[in-house]
Amino acid sequence: MNFCTRCNLATQSDTCPKCGAQNLRQAQEGDFCFVAELDLLYAKMLQNTLQQQSVPCVLQPMGSTAIALYSISAQKARIYVPYEYYDIAMELKDTYYSID
Ligand SMILES: [Zn+2]
Repeated sequence: MNFCTRCNLATQSDTCPKCGAQNLRQAQEGDFCFVAELDLLYAKMLQNTLQQQSVPCVLQPMGSTAIALYSISAQKARIYVPYEYYDIAMELKDTYYSID
């Protein structure tokens, strides 16, 4: 698996499907890999699911937190997991959240 350090994206491809970077390196343990971008509510549910499976993960809220105070549904969040948990995380995501 290759890894784009700019996007934190693991990919089978030689180029990053997101930013088009071609100087990808091998993904390695400890690389935080992008799993999904979801509405904050769903992101938190996925985070809970991952934690129940003992998968460490990072939830990164997108956009302004000031806006989120008024409209939580307007906020998105991204979920990242270390590369060694990437396959498990993608499987869990597909099982529970096939809304991508
Ligand atoms: Zn990229």
